[in-house]
Amino acid sequence: MECDHEQGKTRLLTTCPACQKKIFLNQILQVESKKLKEESAGSMITLTMIHGTKPNRHALTLFIDNNMKVRGTQVSSAVIVSRK
Ligand SMILES: [Zn+2]
Repeated sequence: MECDHEQGKTRLLTTCPACQKKIFLNQILQVESKKLKEESAGSMITLTMIHGTKPNRHALTLFIDNNMKVRGTQVSSAVIVSRK
């Protein structure tokens, strides 16, 4: 279990409904920090990621508000990964 002492960056956002893995804020910020901030100004943003490992990969979409709170999650198992 990870500590939560660094509030903010390691904040638990949500749990993946498909594989039950926890998703932390810093995992998302590594990917799209600038873009997220730009897009989240004023409205909700959606972020889709390929989650999980083979053969259980799934597309996980997070609906995040401008306070970086996850308002909803959606999982699609119909994922085509075009890169290896
Ligand atoms: Zn998952």
